[in-house]
Amino acid sequence: TDELLRKSDKLSVVGQLAAGVAHEIRNPLTSLKGFLQLLRGSAKENQNYYDIMLSELERINVIVNEFLFLAKPQISGSGKNDVCHLLKDVITLLDTQAILSNIEIRFQPEGAAWVQCEENKLKQVFINILKNSMEAMPAGGVIRVEVTRPDSRQIRIRVEDEGEGIPGERLPKLGEPFYTTKEKGTGLGLMMCFKIIEAHKGRITISSSLGAGTIVDVYLPA
Ligand code: ADP
Ligand code: MG
Repeated sequence: TDELLRKSDKLSVVGQLAAGVAHEIRNPLTSLKGFLQLLRGSAKENQNYYDIMLSELERINVIVNEFLFLAKPQISGSGKNDVCHLLKDVITLLDTQAILSNIEIRFQPEGAAWVQCEENKLKQVFINILKNSMEAMPAGGVIRVEVTRPDSRQIRIRVEDEGEGIPGERLPKLGEPFYTTKEKGTGLGLMMCFKIIEAHKGRITISSSLGAGTIVDVYLPA
């Protein structure tokens, strides 16, 4: 619980920062990008420098957008949704990318699992979790998704991958802003997941064994 408390502290600080700063950064970014594209179009040389500048700008854009997403007020359009249906949508969305990476996402739901939630935010959570699993499996493999009901009050969504795993000492770092081990990572994905699931009065637990795979469990009130 200490760990969880520490995490929510960080989240609120980051949330406030996001609200104040991210929005202000986006406008100058857009004009920078526009003029850079213009220059690139008329330049005779140094095209690769322009390309690097544009892709670095794009990277700033991605980070700022993730921040803005965090800063939005939580749970506005909440309603009853079938998590199984929602997961199917998410898997359909990611399937092409998965197949290209030799990854099979296995999900055979039995019946429905209704929860009070904000559909798009919850989708975002599972997109992030599944993407992390996919990114942890460069050689391909199987990702298993499973929905169960450990007791009458909660629903558990489990995502189990066959990826590289996470060393035990790094587990506490997950969900910290900017904690990433990827060259192109933002380290904001899991933090967003924690924040969204917290807002839904649920919780996330992650267990992993190095070289064998990772299990992410999302608990939501039924
Ligand atoms: P990002 O994906 O941008 O790096 P995340 O917050 O989504 O940021 O994840 C943070 C870090 O947690 C990742 O860089 C990775 O080291 C680790 N991680 C998360 N999910 C998994 C997973 N399924 N398998 C292995 N490592 C993972
Ligand atoms: Mg991620």
